[in-house]
Amino acid sequence: MKVFKFGGASVKDAAAVKNVADILERYSGEKLIVVVSAMGKTTNLLEEVHRLRFHQLDYSDALQRMKDYHITIAAELFGEHAEAMELLIKRLDELEDYLKEPCSNEFDREYDQVVSYGEIVSTTLVEAYLRVRNIASRWLDAREIIITDDCYRNARILWDTCKQKVNDILSEFEKNDVLVLQGFIGKSLRGYTTTLGREGSDFTASIMAFLLDAESVTIWKDVPGMLNADPKWFKDTVKLDKISFKEAIELAYYGASVIHPKTIKPLQNKGIPLYIKSFIHPLEEGSVIQESEEFDGAVPSYIFKGNQVLVSVIPKDFSFVAEDNLKEIFETLSSLGVRINLMENSAISFSFCIDKDEYKQEQLFEKLKNNYTIKYNENLTLITIRHYDDKTIQKLAEGRQILLEQRSRATVRMIVR
Ligand code: ASP
Ligand code: MG
Repeated sequence: MKVFKFGGASVKDAAAVKNVADILERYSGEKLIVVVSAMGKTTNLLEEVHRLRFHQLDYSDALQRMKDYHITIAAELFGEHAEAMELLIKRLDELEDYLKEPCSNEFDREYDQVVSYGEIVSTTLVEAYLRVRNIASRWLDAREIIITDDCYRNARILWDTCKQKVNDILSEFEKNDVLVLQGFIGKSLRGYTTTLGREGSDFTASIMAFLLDAESVTIWKDVPGMLNADPKWFKDTVKLDKISFKEAIELAYYGASVIHPKTIKPLQNKGIPLYIKSFIHPLEEGSVIQESEEFDGAVPSYIFKGNQVLVSVIPKDFSFVAEDNLKEIFETLSSLGVRINLMENSAISFSFCIDKDEYKQEQLFEKLKNNYTIKYNENLTLITIRHYDDKTIQKLAEGRQILLEQRSRATVRMIVR
């Protein structure tokens, strides 16, 4: 059995959904778990609906756009198959009913109940369309399998409970070849829908592969595979044909956006290879992430993280930055959920680079200002180069001012303006 994951771009309109069915037809005879994200930019739209509703503002326009978008796709996919359209309308009505209920003051929990409909609706459409194409498929509710804690919007997987649940679905393969389920969503033990963090559908695919001991996972993307740089920033990118789990974790950690950072660990633990392939050119090779580190250093990879803030804190009493100050600084950062992207210390200062977040920054400075003088620079970019060479460093640093640089054997990191 294989696990496939189709992201938002791969199901963004009727033609894209048809393309997904074309790809699946090529695998006929195989048992497939197909994980699907919300269509196109639906998640953003539902975030907007949620935000407006939470603040008791009029969300009807945003909701209408969400509905129209899906109804248009369905009309094109199903034509006279009234049944499929009815299924969609039923789901949209469910969402609307939920929205009309009084909104609690738990922002994150309400978010998950609303935003999860992107995936519920997309899988409903995709699965119904597969049946129109005579692919033996079945819709599954991820919330019956992916059981989580109730840390809404960033829920953690309760692995043992998931393991118990997953066996139930194996019998579905007796009558069906393709089981379609939602990425990104789960359910807490209290019975509320949860989500796994933005872009979390990759992680769902990896969880399913882990639970079912799948033979492989394939993430179908609008790029030819894992590239050595973000094609949004660079046009001369190179495909990494084969890299190790370890390298992929490093790249994801430094901010490479091609796969969700949590995706790798479950696959590595069971030695399940991860393929990244183009849904536009499905016959092409793509990339594979697997155990062997043999090819990791073949090409330099670079990752840009924009909107960075470099903060330096200096103890007011001119004491050395030592374990006790660091403890206080780390505790403050951790209590606010601020993640450090890079750090460095000197005798009397500690510097760290974080993502810009107006609200958290203000709280952070407020908490530290009694004991520390705080200096900071904004609008910076953090560049990470894996397997660097001089040529790549020169090319990327050209015309920029470097505020801080760190080098290890495999990695150079620069904070630049
Ligand atoms: N639809 C969710 C998001 O856009 C999950 C995903 O796409 O992986 O964040
Ligand atoms: Mg998405």
